[in-house]
Amino acid sequence: MKALVTGGAGFIGSHLCDFLLSHDWEVICLDNLLTGDAANVEHLVSKASFQFIKHDITEPLSLEGDIDYVFHLASPASPLDFQKLPIEILKVGSLGTLNALEIARKKGAKFLLASTSEVYGDPQQSPQSEEYWGNVNPVGPRSAYDEAKRFAEALTMAYHRRFGLDIKIVRIFNTYGPRMRKDDGRVVPTFIVQALQGEPLTVFGDGLQTRSFCYISDLIEGIYKLALSEINSPINLGNPEEITIRELAQRITKLVGSDSSLTYKPLPEGEPKMRRPDITKARSLLGWQPKVTLEEGLKKTIAWFRAASQAGGS
Ligand code: UDP
Repeated sequence: MKALVTGGAGFIGSHLCDFLLSHDWEVICLDNLLTGDAANVEHLVSKASFQFIKHDITEPLSLEGDIDYVFHLASPASPLDFQKLPIEILKVGSLGTLNALEIARKKGAKFLLASTSEVYGDPQQSPQSEEYWGNVNPVGPRSAYDEAKRFAEALTMAYHRRFGLDIKIVRIFNTYGPRMRKDDGRVVPTFIVQALQGEPLTVFGDGLQTRSFCYISDLIEGIYKLALSEINSPINLGNPEEITIRELAQRITKLVGSDSSLTYKPLPEGEPKMRRPDITKARSLLGWQPKVTLEEGLKKTIAWFRAASQAGGS
């Protein structure tokens, strides 16, 4: 099997490339390195079954040879990016998805779209099941990402209905692990880096908002199971264990062994106050559920950030 992975040098994309290669797939990794990092796939470039192409998927691309699967993961995805890169996000969700779908259609390949829990916006229902249509502000500070991904889902379904393309849509909830960017603003890397440096952890709002954190290896297994399934409707993947951000901060300082304090900052506008996936469908249709506990996953992630900061001399 040969896969094209757009966004393959990103956090999730690079772990997917690793996983596919270890399952004897050939992989073409495509990335424009806007928020991806070549270092994430550096260990793969010497492999004959791996190819890296620096390309922006918002520009059309013609590839020679067969491709069996297009995994479309390319997009900036952190809330800081929503402010810094809104046009890039809207372009990759629309033009990028169109180009990726066209590659799949021309090659007769299957197609998997990395969507997001952000399609549910600031949810008025908890946990969020796939049937929930969401509560999204179309002009709010998160709208570039939310609407880009909602459009991408609609376009993917349109290709399924019009051309019979075999598509999968995964709605990814908060995921963490090694290779997250230390400065991407997301809560897990931010808190870990602050705790390692002995700085105060910046809790937004009162810290009572909730999230549910899935370790990267669990997510990748779920994506792979979905990819091989017959399911053509959206599937939530995430960890249903919900935790407040204040509690997360306390757990991270404890695991790092840091005496960092917590400092409270204003809650950014438009943030969801709670988020927790209903994974009934993934459980029953894919036989998937997360295995890695928050404590185990945080320990591995902290170890990686510690090693990376030592290697980087900071
Ligand atoms: N958060 C925080 N301090 C930070 C970064 C994030 O308290 O330095 C909170 C943020 O308010 C949100 C949660 O952590 O409630 C998750 O934020 P993140 O940016 O990781 O992703 P989101 O789930 O909002 O997309």
